[in-house]
Amino acid sequence: MFIADSHCDTLYALAKGSELSGLMVNRDKMLAGGLTLQTLALFTGSKGTNGTAYQDAIDMLACKDQLGIDIYLGKLPDKYPEVPSAVISIEGGEALEGRMDRLYEFYHMAGIRMIALTWNFENEIGYPAKLGPKPGLKPFGLALLKEMDSLGIYADASHLNEAGFWDICEHMSLPPIASHSNCRALCDVPRNLTNDQIKAIIARGGYIGINFYTNFLTSSGKATLDDVLRHIDAMYDLGGEDVVGLGSDFDGIEKWPEGLSNASEFPNLIEALLRHGYTDAQVEKLAHGNLWNLLKRADALRKYDEA
Ligand SMILES: [Zn+2]
Repeated sequence: MFIADSHCDTLYALAKGSELSGLMVNRDKMLAGGLTLQTLALFTGSKGTNGTAYQDAIDMLACKDQLGIDIYLGKLPDKYPEVPSAVISIEGGEALEGRMDRLYEFYHMAGIRMIALTWNFENEIGYPAKLGPKPGLKPFGLALLKEMDSLGIYADASHLNEAGFWDICEHMSLPPIASHSNCRALCDVPRNLTNDQIKAIIARGGYIGINFYTNFLTSSGKATLDDVLRHIDAMYDLGGEDVVGLGSDFDGIEKWPEGLSNASEFPNLIEALLRHGYTDAQVEKLAHGNLWNLLKRADALRKYDEA
């Protein structure tokens, strides 16, 4: 079964100087796990608003070829890839520095598919969930949604505060997504989604990638594959069959469920899902179909024939 993953921090780890062989996502582990489409994040949140987030993103992007896999900067192929491949996203809108021309720059340079509007700091776009009750998106954020709509770039609400999430629903034609967040009803942390948010994503045909970080799966301090299944079950109960996928957060997490320590272990989860009673067709949607479908829908809106 081929796997698609909507979030990892592998480029950040590479830019920080990590050895390729020790990463949770690399070509060998992708091959071993059947992971053929990885969304590689340019993680620029850690600088807050005063650093050099833009330059960090550029430096991370320069690391992409070290992975030795196909990276789609332009039009996606007609068929789902069967060899290790990737697309690029931004995590932390700081990279744009409050400038709309940066959006176009990253679109052309990196074929950005989604932007997590904030990481855990306030930025020029809006406020993170981690800061507690805060207003919705700032004027630049609202203007950005409009441009992202026209370019076919999804607004990723993982890390974003709830008011900002509802702004995406209200002001954007593209559906909201959460590339690496779980169900707050099962694990009450700000990084997870409320049932109302999950329902809104489902109603609009968006996407949710299940995060493997132990502390977003359970409050017990130790996670198993069963915890991942519980979050998937909960999203299914809300009608999420066509929106739930996988957003591992590999190379960005220091605790993970037993049996899901890196990309080579995705098959353990697939086996668990089938054993748990999900049908082949359901598991295929979850493993890659839903994310592929999402990416293809935006890809069709993109104007690739323009210079
Ligand atoms: Zn993150």
